Amino acid sequence: MKVFIELGWFFKQEKKAYISGVLILLFVALLQLIPPKVIGIIADDIHEGTITTGVLIKWVVVLIAVGLSMYVLRYYWRIMIFGSSVKLSKILRDRLYSHFTTMSPSFYQKSRIGDLMAHATNDLSAIQQTAGAGVLTLVDSLSTGGFVIIAMAFTISWKLTLICLIPMPIMAMLTSWFGTMLHKSFHKAQEAFSSLNDKTQESISGIKVIKTFGQEQEDIEDFRKLSVDVVQKNIVVAKIDSLYDPTISIIVGISFFLSIAFGAKYVLNGELTIGELISFTTYLGLLVWPMLAFGWLFNIVERGRASYDRVAALLREKVEIKDDKDALSIMPMGDIEYKINEFTYPGETKPILKEILFSLTKGETLGIVGKTGSGKTTLLKLLIREFEGDKGEILFGGKPLQAYKLEKLREAIGYVPQDHFLFSATVAENIAFTNPDISIDEIEKAAKLANIHDDILGFFDGYQTVVGERGVSLSGGQKQRISIARALLMNPEVLVLDDSLSAVDAKTEETILSSLRQNRDGKTTIITSHRLSAVQHANLILVIDDGKIVERGRHEELMEQDGWYKEMYLHQQLEELVEHGGH
Ligand code: ADP
Repeated sequence: MKVFIELGWFFKQEKKAYISGVLILLFVALLQLIPPKVIGIIADDIHEGTITTGVLIKWVVVLIAVGLSMYVLRYYWRIMIFGSSVKLSKILRDRLYSHFTTMSPSFYQKSRIGDLMAHATNDLSAIQQTAGAGVLTLVDSLSTGGFVIIAMAFTISWKLTLICLIPMPIMAMLTSWFGTMLHKSFHKAQEAFSSLNDKTQESISGIKVIKTFGQEQEDIEDFRKLSVDVVQKNIVVAKIDSLYDPTISIIVGISFFLSIAFGAKYVLNGELTIGELISFTTYLGLLVWPMLAFGWLFNIVERGRASYDRVAALLREKVEIKDDKDALSIMPMGDIEYKINEFTYPGETKPILKEILFSLTKGETLGIVGKTGSGKTTLLKLLIREFEGDKGEILFGGKPLQAYKLEKLREAIGYVPQDHFLFSATVAENIAFTNPDISIDEIEKAAKLANIHDDILGFFDGYQTVVGERGVSLSGGQKQRISIARALLMNPEVLVLDDSLSAVDAKTEETILSSLRQNRDGKTTIITSHRLSAVQHANLILVIDDGKIVERGRHEELMEQDGWYKEMYLHQQLEELVEHGGH
């Protein structure tokens, strides 16, 4: 029951609704006691032959009045209690969502997206159940159960009450046991379903790879296995569920049998009237629901608690990279200076970067080249504070990155990643992502700079063509150029192209780079690339190998050294020549 205390903050917040809901619930529990009693009185009057039409009409009016009041009041407590519990899941959902958006990439690296989605859906609905059905079953089973037992014992016969209650604890135990079994098997069925979901999602996303490698049959076989598993686990659930009703009916039957058998004896020896026995058995009928509810209560609360613990643990996850207390609310500008002695990814032991020391004057272009996996992207991620290390710092405009608010830092940097992401929206909306109110002229200007304008005009709806998952499919190069246009629209202090020209041909690359050189006067640009021609105009080129700067200088300087750069440059030139048939 600890979860009710943990949810105390919410009950306090909604106390008006909960208090009125509970009071109405208690009142209904009391009203419920009236009809059985009235039926008993009428039965006795009939038995003794004292019944008159007037008396009968009076009781019928009472029954109708009670029935109508219960109808209306039940409607209101439902709204009060269930209506409030919906608010709880909304509050938690909002909290969780905004928490998710503040978490750093390292959090997403260690969590599975499917799990996070499950917390945001299944767990929240279990918590909502606790605040709704949980509160209802707690209050209702205790009040209805208590009132009915008191009415049976004190107004009819305490002896008969004790006798008929004998099987009830067994019923509560069985309900609880069935509930646990059901919960466990249901959990397994849900897990199986979630695996099936993951598999389907992955196969559909990766269908091209599956087809390319001719793996359709194997994939169908994997799917079939998972699908069979889902069916088997659901059959287990259905079996337990089917046992439940008949078992409970037997126990309730025993209770009725005991009260009628012993009740009849008491009527015969004059301890009870026939009307009282009728009232008694009707009360007994009222007792079945609270007993069942009490059994369910344990399951609802147990599930709610487990879910609340999981959600609370997620909400407690610290945001690793956040604003310092006195971070400046100004956009950083000026020179950039890397003073990284060493950087290791969180949870890893091997440093990925070592002694990255260099500076870049505002307005200059930096080229970073090196083998795949040498650490180029990592170096850039430190600049946008996607990751952070403690051995060294990066200065921007003379101050460490941490001196600025994250929001301001990221406003200053237009980062175009390797794995670009386009939303299911129009081309124009995708480009204007950071500034939805910008004019179409500005959008077109950015698109022209990124050399994608002509392609866009060729789409069937121009700038209004929907792209992304639900839209037109674009080539890798087109996606890259739209991402570049998105970053250019910000006209950022620092433009970072992280291998973002890999899918365009050398000529297009050259067109884009030369228009950047003309249009980004006074602004800094950082380019990492596999193709050395992309960086040959840079003011500074760094060659990274295994996390270290192994060569540095301008293109001409590097060509004078007999290192990796020169060898690679000549190699790529030769390749280009061969590609163009030696011309
Ligand atoms: P490059 O951009 O030069 O191809 P990266 O900076 O992407 O190289 O990667 C450098 C090394 O860091 C690789 O060995 C890679 O496996 C590792 N790495 C990259 N990202 C992470 C991460 N988020 N967590 C742990 N290791 C990582």
